[in-house]
Amino acid sequence: GAERTKNVLILMSDTGGGHRASAEAIRDAFKLEFGDEYQIFVKDVWKEYTGWPLNNMESSYKFMVKHVQLWNVAFHSTSPRWIHSVYLAAIAAFYAKEVEAGLMEYKPDIIISVHPLMQHIPLWVLKWQGLQKKVIFVTVITDLNTCHPTWFHPGVNRCYCPSEEVAKRALLDGLEESQIRVFGLPIRPSFCRAVLSKDDLRVELEMDPNLPAVLLMGGGEGMGPVKKTAKALGESLFDEGLGKPIGQLIIICGRNKVLASTLESIEWKIPVKIRGFETQMEKWMGACDCIITKAGPGTIAEALIRGLPIILNDYIPGQEKGNVPYVVNNGAGVFSRSSKETARLVAEWFSTKTDELKRMSENALNLAQPDAVFDIVKDIHELACQRGPLANIPYMLTSSFSSLI
Ligand code: UDP
Repeated sequence: GAERTKNVLILMSDTGGGHRASAEAIRDAFKLEFGDEYQIFVKDVWKEYTGWPLNNMESSYKFMVKHVQLWNVAFHSTSPRWIHSVYLAAIAAFYAKEVEAGLMEYKPDIIISVHPLMQHIPLWVLKWQGLQKKVIFVTVITDLNTCHPTWFHPGVNRCYCPSEEVAKRALLDGLEESQIRVFGLPIRPSFCRAVLSKDDLRVELEMDPNLPAVLLMGGGEGMGPVKKTAKALGESLFDEGLGKPIGQLIIICGRNKVLASTLESIEWKIPVKIRGFETQMEKWMGACDCIITKAGPGTIAEALIRGLPIILNDYIPGQEKGNVPYVVNNGAGVFSRSSKETARLVAEWFSTKTDELKRMSENALNLAQPDAVFDIVKDIHELACQRGPLANIPYMLTSSFSSLI
């Protein structure tokens, strides 16, 4: 008989572009693979339903990444399990009712968390509601290597790890092999399924058709030493002897409007395009020959799919640090904090060291996992099928949890 549509609730928070990007990737892949079988809700539940500090996560995150040392301390001081458990227990006790109301509204058959802080509270609420065995709960980790231990919760049905390194950590943290799957980081289907020709893209994006192109960016917020690096490239990609450019530069500033307007005011000797938040990153990446970025997992995974050698020029301490060896040790790029060195390297890649650029591009393609998001949703679908026809899940607004506090 016709089964009813299953509800999928994806829990995310707008800290950076990454979590939202992964959440939307999963939503789109569900639509493409299973059409109306699933109804997907992407929710920043904390923001909508809870008070401080959780609805403040986004602005605290932005504040903290701007004050890097503070973020460093916050990341590492909450690492020991007993500290974050106590901390989260306190928050959960305070906000459980609101979280419960959030779950009530969407009545999810499946809950997908793409955020390091969104396992404990919803799993507690499910437990108190007696729904732990009825609702499928999975975590999709969006850090490539060194991830925060709050990602790992033994109560999940699945924990999707983007790399073997993360899977090892999950095992060490007490998850069972049977809970772990390694498919890669979920990237928007429109990105991984795009079939693009570089020549056509350059026409469409009004770029120089012949000059090699470097893409410079810093995540959704336009972070890292973008301005300094841009200036250095403006020099290194101009051949003084010949009096002409040897490359072109694309700078994507994301939501950083100040950065974009600062860059606009500079006079360039080489062709430069300065853009704000772009919605078709696959095109810009497809039109370029290498990329310079902070070590954001989303940008790295996307660059690998497009076969772009990567220069990492910065990372957010803690969760992004491990993305550096992931890229460098696999031969898909290099790490340099020096803008001068970065600019010199790009100039070499575009002139005397084109073979190195080509080799790194091949390594990048080998590391890429463009099907990850489809593997993940198919696996979740299998989990749902194993449950058999899902009974209507008895979500009740009980006072069970709140009354226990
Ligand atoms: N992004 C985008 N448009 C922009 C800048 C960034 O769509 O103008 C996307 C980018 O393609 C990637 C995500 O935002 O998917 C950034 O994620 P990442 O993990 O690299 O860094 P975050 O911004 O989360 O720190």
